[in-house]
Amino acid sequence: MTATILDGKKLAATVRAEVREGVVSFTREHGRAPGLEVILVGEDPASQIYTRNKEKAAEEVGIRGKLHVLPAETTEAELMRLLDRLNMDEEVDGILVQLPLPRHIREQKVLDAVVPEKDVDGFHPVNAGMLASGRPALVPCTPRGSMKLIALADRKLEGARAVVVGRSNIVGKPMAQLLLAANATVTIAHSRTGDLPAVCREADVLVVAVGKAELVRGDWVKPGAVVIDVGMNRLELPGAGNGATIRTRLVGDVAFDEVKQVAGAISPVPGGVGPMTIACLLENTLIAAQARSAGHNPAPPTRRGA
Ligand code: NAP
Repeated sequence: MTATILDGKKLAATVRAEVREGVVSFTREHGRAPGLEVILVGEDPASQIYTRNKEKAAEEVGIRGKLHVLPAETTEAELMRLLDRLNMDEEVDGILVQLPLPRHIREQKVLDAVVPEKDVDGFHPVNAGMLASGRPALVPCTPRGSMKLIALADRKLEGARAVVVGRSNIVGKPMAQLLLAANATVTIAHSRTGDLPAVCREADVLVVAVGKAELVRGDWVKPGAVVIDVGMNRLELPGAGNGATIRTRLVGDVAFDEVKQVAGAISPVPGGVGPMTIACLLENTLIAAQARSAGHNPAPPTRRGA
């Protein structure tokens, strides 16, 4: 048996086309396009690429994307002042602070400072709490995209056994909440889980978000399972590093070639969850813009520090 490949690139194109239509209607109705502000602090090369891609993807669907590139020595107070200004700007619908931040800036403090209704990453504790309470909220983009990939596999989640490997606030925990909301029976596994292969083998739907290249092997997977590989690991290719550029290969947390012989459906890396994450960021920006303009927020406003 060879698994169906869940083509995230193709599905993301469909999501982006839907967002583009929504953006046209929003712009016609409100005389302005939805606005997404992306903030990058420092010169991390991967973050530079991610933020530029997000700005470009926004513009491609008609969202007004703006990238703020701040020097690495920006103080926490300076960053907070920028966030305050963007929080209050009526034409800004989404704010995203690219992680990781330089070490002298407290990440949690900064993420908490984005007002929940503009928190298009879905990382604010109000949005996390809303999701955990089963109420509408801005949902983190990677789990949101992963759910769409599972839907593409056409697997009924109600009553299914789902295992999420990884318990981060940005992927594992919200993923588990979404699966639970879809009436799956959910197990969250992590680095202290005993006999992880046996836990994974119970899964009808297995979502892996660990950050360890090819951790999940073919014999960890139940035949026919849907496998979503969130991991993004850069492996240096043999012989790399001699020249000016280091050649790398992007691999997931799942040993793709082995697992595709066992699974019913699998998302590849690259071309699976990655493109869906950006598409869902655009979708979240449109949702935030529509909700704010309709006067009801996807999450209730809070004052910073309240
Ligand atoms: P993270 O914050 O480092 O969390 C990793 C989780 O994996 C933790 O809960 C950790 O357990 C668990 N873990 C680590 N080693 C393990 C092991 N050997 N067995 C079982 N569990 C283990 O990472 P993250 O931010 O969730 O990201 C996970 C992966 O997804 C990374 O590769 C990241 O690059 C990728 N990612 C991709 C996208 C995308 O758009 N495609 C978006 C976000 C993240 P403990 O809690 O016990 O430490």
